[in-house]
Amino acid sequence: MPTPLFAKLRLRGLILILAIASVLMTLGNSFYATYQIQRQLLITNTLEANRVYASKLANITDVFLSTAQSQLAYSASQLSSKIDKPKQLASEINRLYKQSAMFNSVVVIDIHNKILEVAPISLPVKGQVVAHPTISHLDELKKPLITKPFISKADNYLISISHPIFDENKQYQGHISGTIYLEHDNLLNTILGEHYYNDGSYLYVVDGDKTLIYHPDPQRVGEKVFDNPAIDAVVKQHSDAYAIKNSADIDMLAGFAPITRAGWGVVSQRPTKATLTELDDHIWQVFLRSIPLILLILIAIWLSARFISKPLQELANQARVMDNKDSQQKIINIHSWFYEAAQLKRAILKGMGLLHDKISQLHTDSHTDPMTALLNRRGLQQLLEQYESETQTFSVIATDIDFFKHINDNYGHDAGDNVLKELAVLMQNNARQQDAICRTGGEEFILLLPSTSADEAFIIAERLRNQVAQHTMPDDVGVVHISLGVAYWPGSPTSISQTFKRADQALYQAKRQGRNRTIAAEQP
Ligand code: GH3
Ligand code: MG
Ligand code: MG
Repeated sequence: MPTPLFAKLRLRGLILILAIASVLMTLGNSFYATYQIQRQLLITNTLEANRVYASKLANITDVFLSTAQSQLAYSASQLSSKIDKPKQLASEINRLYKQSAMFNSVVVIDIHNKILEVAPISLPVKGQVVAHPTISHLDELKKPLITKPFISKADNYLISISHPIFDENKQYQGHISGTIYLEHDNLLNTILGEHYYNDGSYLYVVDGDKTLIYHPDPQRVGEKVFDNPAIDAVVKQHSDAYAIKNSADIDMLAGFAPITRAGWGVVSQRPTKATLTELDDHIWQVFLRSIPLILLILIAIWLSARFISKPLQELANQARVMDNKDSQQKIINIHSWFYEAAQLKRAILKGMGLLHDKISQLHTDSHTDPMTALLNRRGLQQLLEQYESETQTFSVIATDIDFFKHINDNYGHDAGDNVLKELAVLMQNNARQQDAICRTGGEEFILLLPSTSADEAFIIAERLRNQVAQHTMPDDVGVVHISLGVAYWPGSPTSISQTFKRADQALYQAKRQGRNRTIAAEQP
């Protein structure tokens, strides 16, 4: 029979493979689930942190703008009705310019858009007429105003914060304006620029037209940004957080909030990758820390697999060599501690028992004459081999029924059989425990008498002959006689076959001398 493909796999190996595979899959699954949950958590937290941060920055910037506006309002009130007094104008705007680092320059402009005074004085714009590029109607200047970014006469990219100046009669006389150069150092840049991190996080500010008015990369200030969902939302004055791609196509987690006073928006963002690097590290740490436990589990699995498979493995090993002498005892000794193993062990032992019974039955059958249940020739042969090997002395009595042919002829074959059976019983009754009786042929018998001299054997033979002669056989056969020849085997040097020959010759002699008698063979 061909061996099935996996027939060589051991149960222990199978249990190990199964258990290790399930442990690894469970671990992999829980690592994956943990990773996903932590990832989502980190992303959500980072988005929220960026949104809160953008809000805070938006508030600070709002406060900054409000302070700037109130300082300009104060100066405007100081300059009421002094629009035609250059000295006082100059002194007030210098004071304002120097008071804080809020503005890069301060100017006073009259109703004809002529620059009356400028601080610092070094700026070469005094007396110039400026058409404000971001203002469509002059009336806009009659209110506090934060302009869109524009390029000034002195070639600065700036925004201006202005406040109107009125006289006592509330007549508009011009306005005072503080400028913030977007590409230079100033208080606004300082506030926003503090917040720059090594991990690629940064923030930027856009005005209501999606133009960058603050960015950590100064080159980008003034650039208009399209296709950025965070910017699109923040210019609509929304505050939220999105996962987006930045202009360099890098995944970012962006939180944003509006600066309502100016219609601007702050966007604070961190690269998704930087956020998740921590997580990879974290998961790796979790894995490293769980290695001892994983190893312990694997060892426990290995031991369990051994423990579970041991009885079955031992049973299988013994089943392979079941014809060994001691295998039955070895199977009995196997500790089969669980149901299947116990049942298998029982079944194997039962099978072995049946087999042994069968074999010994076959052995008995092959050594026994079925009709009389006496030993047959093979049985006799085995016994003689044993006697010879043990040098067990014995006497042999060869026995033959006289004129048995007549009995068959006169009373039938069945009656003949019954005579044979009856004679077997008589011989058994007459025998001692150590004696062996064999039916060696049709109506021929051999008696083996161990440790019995020729004389003793003769007496026994005569006793048997007399008993038979006095016995009435069944089936109306009546009395039958037997003739006997006796010989003695004294151990070596005579051979057993010689002894048997002498017994046969003695029997033959008994027949010739008239039957129904015993003749002892002469000693060699
Ligand atoms: P002798 O006194 O010379 O021994 O005469 P005998 O007739 O007994 O001797 P012989 O050997 O000529 O005959 C033996 C007969 O035994 C022959 C055979 O038919 C018969 N016989 C052999 N085996 C059996 C058997 O199993 N059953 C029966 N009924 N008869 C058997
Ligand atoms: Mg005969
Ligand atoms: Mg005979």
